[in-house]
Amino acid sequence: MSPSQRGVSDVPSLVGASSATQNVGRILVVGAGTMGRGIAGLCALTGYDTWVFDADPDAQRSVRPSIESSWSRAIEKGRLPAAAAESARHRLRIAERLKDAANVDFVIEAVPEALDLKRMVLSELDDLCPDRTVFGSNTSSLPITRIAHATGRRDRVIGIHFFNPVAAMPLVEIVRGRETSPETEERAVALARSLGKEVVRVVDSPGFATSRLGVALGLEAMRMLEEGVASAADIDRAMELGYGHRMGPLKTSDVVGLDVRLAIAETLSAELPADRFGPPEILRALVAQGKTGKKSGEGFFKWEGDKTVGDGPLAARLAKKR
Ligand code: NAD
Repeated sequence: MSPSQRGVSDVPSLVGASSATQNVGRILVVGAGTMGRGIAGLCALTGYDTWVFDADPDAQRSVRPSIESSWSRAIEKGRLPAAAAESARHRLRIAERLKDAANVDFVIEAVPEALDLKRMVLSELDDLCPDRTVFGSNTSSLPITRIAHATGRRDRVIGIHFFNPVAAMPLVEIVRGRETSPETEERAVALARSLGKEVVRVVDSPGFATSRLGVALGLEAMRMLEEGVASAADIDRAMELGYGHRMGPLKTSDVVGLDVRLAIAETLSAELPADRFGPPEILRALVAQGKTGKKSGEGFFKWEGDKTVGDGPLAARLAKKR
């Protein structure tokens, strides 16, 4: 079964990792939030020795239980053999200090979407990791070339952009920085494919292919909600039923995290014509209130776990004004 035929909630095939394991035996994931956990869990299941480091001690404590409980749910649903999870458990290691985990072939950086932070993290890793280590950034929109300039290995830095939820989404967007070498690109492509993903290749440009198009749609949907064109649910249904999107633009924004979406919109409006990507007021207001979508239980919709249970109050108020 090819990744494109897989259902959204299936886990990838566990039948051994591809030949990429010869180049990439050991992986370090830096930043164990929404994305880092998903990426680390997938790497360990695929057969890689996987280190995880997060600067926050609470995240360090919660990352293993969180990854293992996602495996338990997959086992209960019959999507993952218990033995595969058991061996993955031994391949997953949580580091308390970055330097303890730096002897790896590939780093996947998944810290928050802020250029200075990513540059700082990669600069620190540059001192700690061996020369062979490739640095992949999971950034959704930041310039890979500028991230790479924080290191002495500009040819070995690349964008490796996973999607949420990592185990289910079939795509990885590979972003080639101005100085990324062809060898680095092929190593990143081979790693992504070994994890059961399909790749698209993009040159370094604001928002790459996915965020630029996805955020444009999401921001226009927010402006339509502000203008009272339709309810949040109907705007989403229009795209789901009329255009065959698996999930409408407002629910997608909630799932990604409205804070993450706001950060991307700000990057894009600084880099591209501002009138196209200026964040709508409703997005700023929700983020300022801590209503960052699914992860906070409220955004454009109210959430209970993975399910929406009605409009969020701001969206409901706007719908009533129509
Ligand atoms: P998140 O806020 O959930 O997690 C970030 C983690 O990084 C936190 O646990 C934090 O403690 C940790 N961190 C902060 N500073 C650190 C440091 N110096 N060293 C190590 N760890 C540090 O963020 P996220 O949603 O997982 O996003 C991470 C990256 O992935 C961002 O670049 C984002 O744009 C991108 N991304 C997010 C999504 C999504 O749907 N959320 C999808 C694709 C890509």
